[in-house]
Amino acid sequence: MTESVIHAELLVLGGGPGGYTAAFRAADLGKKVVLVERYPVLGGVCLNVGCIPSKALLHTAQLIHEAEEFKAHGLVFGPPQIDLDKIRAWKESVSRGLNDGLAKLVKQRKITLVHGVGKFTASHALDVQTESGVQAITFDQAVIAAGSHPTKIPVFPNDDPRLMDSTDALALKSIPKKLLIVGGGIIGLEMATVYHALGSEISIVELMDQIIPGCDKDLVNPLHRRIKKQYQNIWLETRVQAIEPQENGLKVSFEGKSAPESEVFDSVLVAVGRRPNGKKIDADKAGVNVDDMGFIKVDKQQRTNVPHIFAIGDIVGNPMLAHKAVHEGKVAAEVAAGLKVAFEALTIPSVAYTDPEIAWMGLTENQAKEQGIQYEKGSFPWAASGRSLSNGRNEGLTKLLTDPESGRVLGAGIVGTNAGELIAEAVLALEMGADAHDIGLSIHPHPTLSETFAFAAEMITGSITDLYIKK
Ligand code: NAD
Repeated sequence: MTESVIHAELLVLGGGPGGYTAAFRAADLGKKVVLVERYPVLGGVCLNVGCIPSKALLHTAQLIHEAEEFKAHGLVFGPPQIDLDKIRAWKESVSRGLNDGLAKLVKQRKITLVHGVGKFTASHALDVQTESGVQAITFDQAVIAAGSHPTKIPVFPNDDPRLMDSTDALALKSIPKKLLIVGGGIIGLEMATVYHALGSEISIVELMDQIIPGCDKDLVNPLHRRIKKQYQNIWLETRVQAIEPQENGLKVSFEGKSAPESEVFDSVLVAVGRRPNGKKIDADKAGVNVDDMGFIKVDKQQRTNVPHIFAIGDIVGNPMLAHKAVHEGKVAAEVAAGLKVAFEALTIPSVAYTDPEIAWMGLTENQAKEQGIQYEKGSFPWAASGRSLSNGRNEGLTKLLTDPESGRVLGAGIVGTNAGELIAEAVLALEMGADAHDIGLSIHPHPTLSETFAFAAEMITGSITDLYIKK
């Protein structure tokens, strides 16, 4: 059955954080918007099978750990009773609440929402395969926000339900006794935190010589030291050769420095990155270039090679982060509405919501060394932070990199509880062109973890009094 054609001034393909932001902003700027989403709810990976459900589960994990660790400080709880059905239901209710909120925002803005898989048919046309048939849409302008999917390793037994990707892991069907995580990146480590707290014995296998390979080693070390004590194995510089399904589990063969030749696990989570969905939308029929990987190249105004078609989010390149997609979505909508704007953010912060959290932004020390960029560094250990010690934690670190000539912020990295919240101040400092004096002289409330950012700045200006630095 073919329904009557819908016309959009702006068509948005994909209802994740980037897509719905572009749709909302464009509607607010007066455009007649049609939003196409393949799933029955809005919010994309982030809200349904990514950032939000993982944070709900990570909060559960944090409560379990904190209760356990305060035994040493005179507060003894009984062992946690884990009701997996209730935890799952709660996690789903968090996403559902946000789905409902988005559905309301769509209605309030009078956006036409079409559910189904959209594919381009021409430079100004797209067909959506809906439950009731094909819905044809024509458009003046379009924003592609079709996202990404987890990378699969073809030689692995991908049909075996004991082999999981991040979506399967977040579904929380059961708690495997022995869980292997392939990939020591952000998803692997966040899910390790969750499953360890819920009782799994965790092993991690990572190809490179450190977990979270893109991050400075001094920020990763406190996390590595802590999880080394909690997890069964962390095998670095190790490759999975094969995974063989057996009745009693998945037999995994390794090749690497310290891993065994093979071991049997109840489940394996593969978290080795994500791939863009550029090849799934027939972009070529609209004349949009997609590279071999599936990425779509855009300019600073988010325009593809076809001037009336924009692209945003995971599909235009790394980092694949919701907050990047949201800002790109606003830029695309505003440019489409005729505003003179561009994506000119100086940095996109990264956060691993592990325990401790790791967050960084701007120039990393690794990059500075690789690129021969001069910098001054202030590094403040949280062992000297009254607030961190009061929280029962001493392993954190806040570091700031500044330009030796101008004193301005170049980059910052934080490891410790709530690092993900704290990094926002560093982003603001960089965007505002603040120098180390500005940060040190801004009065931070005491006692807070936020003070450590000012202390790191004072390590550079030499005015630190919370530590003694030999002259
Ligand atoms: P990632 O790129 O962060 O990490 C993948 C890891 O797997 C890397 O350390 C890599 O060296 C390793 N690896 C690759 N192939 C391997 C192999 N065959 N064997 C062993 N190790 C291998 O990818 P991810 O963790 O899957 O996350 C995917 C995307 O989602 C990333 O862009 C990430 O930024 C994003 N994400 C962000 C957050 C957050 O912001 N907190 C959370 C989850 C995911």
